[in-house]
Amino acid sequence: MVSNLKIAVVNDLSPETNPGAASIAYSFAKNLTRHFEYVEFWTTGSTESGFKTNDGIEMKIQKFSDKKIRRQDNSLKFRLIAEFWNIKNLFWFILQVTKSRPNIVWVHQIGFRFPKTILVVCKIMKLKTFITLHDYNLIVPRKLFPMDLYPLKIASVNPLQGDGNKTPKSVAFSSDSFSQRKYFAFRRSVLCFLYNSLTGTFAISEQQKEIYSDFGFRITSTIANGFDECNCGETSKIERTILFAGRENGKGLSLALEAAKKNSWVLHLAGDSRLKDIVSEKMNPTEYEFHGKLSQEELFSLIHKMEFVAVLSQCYDVYPSIAIEALVHGSLPLITRSCGNWPLISNISSNLVIPAAQVPDLEWLRADVREKDTNVKVSALEISDVQESLRNYLYFFR
Ligand SMILES: [Zn+2]
Repeated sequence: MVSNLKIAVVNDLSPETNPGAASIAYSFAKNLTRHFEYVEFWTTGSTESGFKTNDGIEMKIQKFSDKKIRRQDNSLKFRLIAEFWNIKNLFWFILQVTKSRPNIVWVHQIGFRFPKTILVVCKIMKLKTFITLHDYNLIVPRKLFPMDLYPLKIASVNPLQGDGNKTPKSVAFSSDSFSQRKYFAFRRSVLCFLYNSLTGTFAISEQQKEIYSDFGFRITSTIANGFDECNCGETSKIERTILFAGRENGKGLSLALEAAKKNSWVLHLAGDSRLKDIVSEKMNPTEYEFHGKLSQEELFSLIHKMEFVAVLSQCYDVYPSIAIEALVHGSLPLITRSCGNWPLISNISSNLVIPAAQVPDLEWLRADVREKDTNVKVSALEISDVQESLRNYLYFFR
């Protein structure tokens, strides 16, 4: 039955320029049109891009200039202030809420463009507000590493040995200065208060729920992201290729680079031009191929052409979507234990899960997986599709 309530899906970044959480949020919005008469997608976009849709969703886009944004993104201090006090975007949000009057607001990633204070607005306006956490940003405004949680003992998530008696308050956050740690603790308690007062907060993996709960966040439920089947149109693989997609820090770029070099494979890169800058210093032009920022469709067809996809994170990945997308498109993900859901990959071939500090022998791995005739079939992995994942949310929305 189609409900006549109005739902607004909110995500900072647009799926056109930033696949990841943005694409997931948009894909949910698309599927929501089967359940709600009025679906809106609120996001931000560069003045130079013209993101349009014909999926039955009403788009509300707050435009910004590229130049200003680059300044903001490059300064941590500016980012930390803007995550609460981006007044311009806060007022834009208040205007939309007043004009549109949604019954339900479903927030995904915010804090980069829309300030987190939009949640206070939702609270004041007494809107039913749900949020899906896509990262560890509420704990620290950077990537979260296993060393950060040491010696906190969460057996299933921490590969390091802890003594088991420490509370989150004694967590190391070793790479930050004293004043940073103090600010992060203060920020955490503010966010904890704010997020815990919302109608519902969702985690996307058990590992994420466990870590957040340990810091006092109340998680309503864990709902894994759903994945659509492969319909990218690609059929063949380019031999001896490994793909690295994403940001340059914490995601094991140097490891993927080393693996490609050692095995004389071609390293394919998808993402920011900074990836190219780093790799071009260490590799000859024939040893790598840079594809730039890709849309979700473009990324899927590239994944499909690759033999391996590097998921060699040194930091915690909340939900290694790209590892599952690799499986969907018949490519093999190389994964580390700091990622959520690594046991999923381990079920296919334990050799594909490698220690973060070990450069994988790709030739050997490839032969090994072939020899075992491992059938990389997604259906066997019980991965839910987007519809199924959404049905779990709807149970709470109604
Ligand atoms: Zn495919």
